[in-house]
Amino acid sequence: MFSTVPAATTHRPRAERLQLLEALRTSFDGLDTTYERADGTRQRRIYLDSAASNLRCTAARAMADRAMQHYANTHSQLHMGASLMTALYDEAHAIVRRFVGAPEAYTAIFCGTGVTGGLNRMARVLTAQRPSRDVVITTMMEHHANDLPHRKHAGRVVHVPLAHDPDGEAGRVDMDALRRAIRTHADRLNYVAVTAASNVTGITNPVHEIARLAHDVGALCVVDAAQSAAHSPIRITGDRDDEALDVVCLSGHKIYAPGSPGVIVARKDLFAGHEPEEVGGGIVEFVDTERYTVTDALPDREETGTPNLPGAFLLASMLLLMERVGMDLIAEDERALTQYAMERFTAIDGLHLYGSHRLEVAERIGVLTFNLEGLPHGLVTAILNDYFGIAVRNECFCAQPFVRQLLGIADATGVAPDSCLDTCTPQAQPGMVRVSLGLYNTRADVDAAADALADIAARPDAYRSKYRALRNGHGDWAHTDFNVPPHELLTLEGAADDWVRDALSS
Ligand code: PMP
Repeated sequence: MFSTVPAATTHRPRAERLQLLEALRTSFDGLDTTYERADGTRQRRIYLDSAASNLRCTAARAMADRAMQHYANTHSQLHMGASLMTALYDEAHAIVRRFVGAPEAYTAIFCGTGVTGGLNRMARVLTAQRPSRDVVITTMMEHHANDLPHRKHAGRVVHVPLAHDPDGEAGRVDMDALRRAIRTHADRLNYVAVTAASNVTGITNPVHEIARLAHDVGALCVVDAAQSAAHSPIRITGDRDDEALDVVCLSGHKIYAPGSPGVIVARKDLFAGHEPEEVGGGIVEFVDTERYTVTDALPDREETGTPNLPGAFLLASMLLLMERVGMDLIAEDERALTQYAMERFTAIDGLHLYGSHRLEVAERIGVLTFNLEGLPHGLVTAILNDYFGIAVRNECFCAQPFVRQLLGIADATGVAPDSCLDTCTPQAQPGMVRVSLGLYNTRADVDAAADALADIAARPDAYRSKYRALRNGHGDWAHTDFNVPPHELLTLEGAADDWVRDALSS
């Protein structure tokens, strides 16, 4: 059914690709940023929050900046800048398609700022296009972005549970339960919406096998690749025709390109005859005061208005750089660091790491989520920041049902957000601490985090005595005498004043 596109991997010798990887690793904005610590010293920050957003790649920015020397609006061929922008924007679409191995039968649509926009758009499109199918299957490990849009637009949503490994830790989606759910809803199933990798455990799902099961009953497979895209190779076509994914959504800000649009890569035929979700300039052929006609061309008809060109160029440039290193090598490198981090973290007394620890049972990208026994997640996260200069994230990561399940909380009852006392447990104030890796992270970063966590676990009271719970409903904690208000770091007004001073003194 689908033709294939040439593999996007490079044929460079491995040694050269390793050299490129080393060069890329240090090419990010913000790696040298320093902050003051609670002990009065200054330290380079250690960024371990890439699952939220990763840092901007300076090499990709330099490529996109070259394009910006010609900046103009698209949709005109008659001055140099406009025709170049139109060509580069087309090229950016083609680069995205190639990155996920999508053949001609697919379109790449820039949409919103991340996967949230893409999944909302596709929930509306697929519901309108397939009205007799009013059930969606998703899994217990989804981000709210791959759950709530389907609940709002697509009808009934069935959440399939996860399999557990021999140690009782949650793994990937339970394929037997998925098969049963697909059989039960076969006639009315519109699509299966599944994440390629969890933003809570980092564990990956067998998306091509899931696509085959969905296709067996005439349903589609929609994949949330927000977490996985920058960390492991994704090929839309799979090994067999019936394993091809129908829709894949990406977030550029999780692919080292903050400020870029989100992307939907989808089969073109899914939009056939569908009135575009948003209308306006740039997509119409004829307009009078009574009627208008919209172009048939994709992605144009789904991209009304002036495009985010700088963002699209940044994202496409980054994808090209990652292609030149090779996603296989990037994944291999991250797997080794993840394995190392898992070994170091699980050796810490009182640290419970969520999700299967066995990569051979449940592969995971570089996302490690845990709690330290007896210590609230908000307190651990604040200590890591204040005393160690380590940036990590806590709470429920927009995946409340999954986090509650991992914590053993049956439902939302009994959760009183403001009841967080100094002894609060992850169950009373649901949440966890998440360390997540990007291309720039090294063993030294993992060691710094593991050493810090071991120190916190060994001397909890010494740290706890310096903090108070904020009782703000998020489980946040504040140091009693160390606090750097954001406006002391930077304000836009201050930056403008610096410019004025420089401009007047030159
Ligand atoms: N899905 C997953 C797995 C995610 O990790 C995220 C972002 N945390 C999203 C969806 C939503 O992405 P965005 O905020 O870019 O729309």
